[in-house]
Formats: sequence, C-alpha cells, structure tokens
Amino acid sequence: MASQGSKTISLKVLVDKKTNKVVMAETSSDFVDILFSFLTLPMGTIVRLLREQPQPATIGSMASLYKEVENLDEQQLLQTQTCKSMLLHPRNHSENMCRKLKLNVDDTEPIEYYICADRDCSRRGTGGLYTTFKNVRCNCRKMMDKEIRREKEDEGARPAGDGGVFVCGTNKFMVTDDLQVEPISTDTILTQLHKLGLKDMSSLQETTLSICSEEILKLLKGILFSKAPLTDVFLKKQGFTSDGLKFEMGDPLKSSLSCEGSMTLKLMMSKSMKKVLYAEAGEDMVDFLLSFLTFPLGSILQLLGGNSSLGSMDNLYKSVGRSVVIGADSLRNLLLQPVLCRGFGCSSNPLGLKESEQPPPSLWCTIYSVYDYPDYLTTEEPNFGWPSQLHFVNPKSPTSETAGQGGFIKGPGTFFITDNLVFTPQASFWSLSFLKSMELPLDDLEVRIVKVGTVEALRLLKASLLSNSVFTDALVNFGLKIPKQEK
Ligand SMILES: [Zn+2]
Repeated sequence: MASQGSKTISLKVLVDKKTNKVVMAETSSDFVDILFSFLTLPMGTIVRLLREQPQPATIGSMASLYKEVENLDEQQLLQTQTCKSMLLHPRNHSENMCRKLKLNVDDTEPIEYYICADRDCSRRGTGGLYTTFKNVRCNCRKMMDKEIRREKEDEGARPAGDGGVFVCGTNKFMVTDDLQVEPISTDTILTQLHKLGLKDMSSLQETTLSICSEEILKLLKGILFSKAPLTDVFLKKQGFTSDGLKFEMGDPLKSSLSCEGSMTLKLMMSKSMKKVLYAEAGEDMVDFLLSFLTFPLGSILQLLGGNSSLGSMDNLYKSVGRSVVIGADSLRNLLLQPVLCRGFGCSSNPLGLKESEQPPPSLWCTIYSVYDYPDYLTTEEPNFGWPSQLHFVNPKSPTSETAGQGGFIKGPGTFFITDNLVFTPQASFWSLSFLKSMELPLDDLEVRIVKVGTVEALRLLKASLLSNSVFTDALVNFGLKIPKQEK
C-alpha cells in the first residue's frame, strides 16, 4: 500500500447545497474500475481491510469467523499449515487485473511458484509437484520452497484496447449516490435529476474531489453499510457501524442448484427465547462456514440473487450486469460470477462455487543437470534440457495430493458452534458449562435437527453477512420448519 500512498484520482461531484447530498458524480473509467473491482475481493480480504481501519466495522458474523481462524490451533485442527493463511489471506482470482487499477485496496504481491527443494524429486518425469503457497509439503515429505519464475505471468490479464481494466477506458460515467453506474449523457443526467425530484438547479454546485487509497477503503466500507455512500464518505465524512444494517431474509432465496441436505446441524434451542444457543455439527459444516471467507464478494451477491441487503452493494452489482461499457463477457463474468482460485474449493459446499483454471493443473519445468540456470515454469513442454511435468498440489491435502476440493478442517470431528459462529471441538463438558453460563432451566431446552442443503446454506450465508445470531436468524426466525427431535 505504501507505494500507492501519494496516488490520487479525481472525482467530479454535483452536490445539492440545500440538502448537502451528492446528486451524482462524473468520473472516468479509473474510478469505475475500482468500484467494480470490489466484487472480486474475497470476503476474508474485506474483513481484514475493514479491521485495519481507524473505525473498524464488522460484517455480520464474518469478523468473528475470521478471528476464530486467527486463533485456530493449526496443528490440531487444520489439514495443513497452509490452510490458515488461505483463509486469512484468500487469493483474488483477478489479482493481476486489480494490480492495474489506479488505486488498489488490496495491494498483494504477485503469485509465487514453488517446487521441491530436491531437484531429483522435481525431475521425476510426470510425477513432480508445484505449488503457489509457502510451506506446502511435497510428496517426498520435503518442503516445496524453491521459488521459481513463471514465464509470461501476465498472460491474458490485459483487456484489449484502451486504458480501462474492466470497463472501456475512453468512456465517462455517471455514478449516483446509491452506486448506480451508467455511461454519462445529457439524458442520463436529466433522468437522474428528475428521479430525485430536483427542480431548482440553483442549489447545485460542482466540486472536484481528490481521492487517495485511504478514501477508497472508506468508500468500500461505505458501500457495504450505507445507501448513500458518496454523501456519507465524501461530504459527511462519517464513520459506519454495522448497526445500520438490518437483517431481513427477504424473498425466499432461490438457486438453480437444489441439493438435498447432506450436512446435519443439531441445534440446542431455548424454547422461551426462541433462540439457538449453539449447534453441534461435523467438520464438514465448519468447513462450509469457514469457506465463506474465501468467497469473492461478487459470487456472494450472485448466490443471493443481488439481494444481499449490504448497503448499496446490490446496486453496484446490478450496474455491472446492465453495463454496456464492459466489452467482453469474460470480463463481466470476472465480476458477476467470480470463481475461487485453484486449491480454494471445498468439498462441503452445497452452493457449488467453482474453482478457476488458474493456476494451471500442470506446468512444465526444465531442470538443468549440470549448470544451475534459473528454471522457469511454462505451459508447454520444452524441447530442451530435462523437461519435467509438475502438477499443482492441493494445498489443503496433508498427503500432497493433486486432486482438488477437500476441506480445511481435520476430520472426522464434532464441533460446537455458537450462534455468532465461534466454534470449538467437542470437549466433554463444554456444552454443560455453556448452558450453565446461560442460566436456563433444563426444561427450557430443546434439540432440533436440520439438514443443510442449498436453501439452508444460502440462508446461512446471508445471515452471516448481517447478523450476530446466524443460526437463529437463518433457520428459526425466518420460517424454516424444523421438526423437533423425537425423544
Ligand atoms: Zn519432493
């Protein structure tokens, strides 16, 4: 971020002096590209960025989930050491594109490639491995810590033509206070003024703002928590708390997938409070909840059908869908249906998020036998040296397998998960002391069993964005019929 400290971009805003509200902003592709790039950020990255702010804000229970991962005993509970950094620093599939933005809120290092430190191991014809994470173990049990360059790292990252990253670089745009983005024209301006019921033009004043990366972060927060982020961030300069977000399940969440529940939640409820005290579940459920941190924001909005209720994020998402200024469908898909980077997919995911084809499942490397030339990875088999095909190792696999999916958490195991997603492995008296701390009479307790399929999974995802009582809100308050457990 340091390198970006002094960079600024300008934003021309039209302010209604009577109400001190932004009527609209006129901007170049630079600013719109930054707005759209928010959709590529994984949830874990957003939680981390918001936490580092002077006035931290939390997205539902995502922050407590993130904190849980930070405190996790990796030796005991996680499949591999890498799992922890994957969840705390999930990779953005479009990070190459984002590096081209004028201001990039998540200024990550370019992807690094590693092979086994033992050259003989990497030279085994078709059996070698490569990885893009530090501290991944090779199947020979040595660490893969020889860093290696990849040929043509930027391939395919640059859109054709002009200077824009996601949108066409020559266009000028109108951005409304609630984050609807359109190409600017006299028509769109007049329509907007009309929509706002502005008849008296004399109160309108034009101001040019100079925005730095710190303000872009504030804007990200504003878009998540406010229905008028431009006014709130740039004019009123106010902080946001998650109190402004109201949890509503809204329309029944629909999905083209309709997977029957394969994961089970055993809910310990208080009858009098109509509240879930805690849930008991297998490691598959904990894996599913943890994987929320790896979901790109755009994929969450897609799963929720653009009805996340997060500030004005839904408007931004819909603007990408409507936008005529994103030339190629492939670019639009990066924003509307962003995928997980390879290795981040999780087997226990009824929401069916796809993994990207990047990095490739296998790459070629030339190992020189005599001279220590810098080796590099390439997509095609080289016809010189000592070519060796290396396969991407699943960073979640403790046995260095190349097959995808799997989970972050070691299994099999049973976990207690509280309503705000704090989880702990089953320990003999945890539930007793928890119930004791609640000071509830025994006959107020009731156990219910829920099968978690696509519908329940979507509800849990939405509730974890907006609520601190995820199971209660997702499964009890909003009308899912859960049978009582037969005695
Ligand atoms: Zn090895």
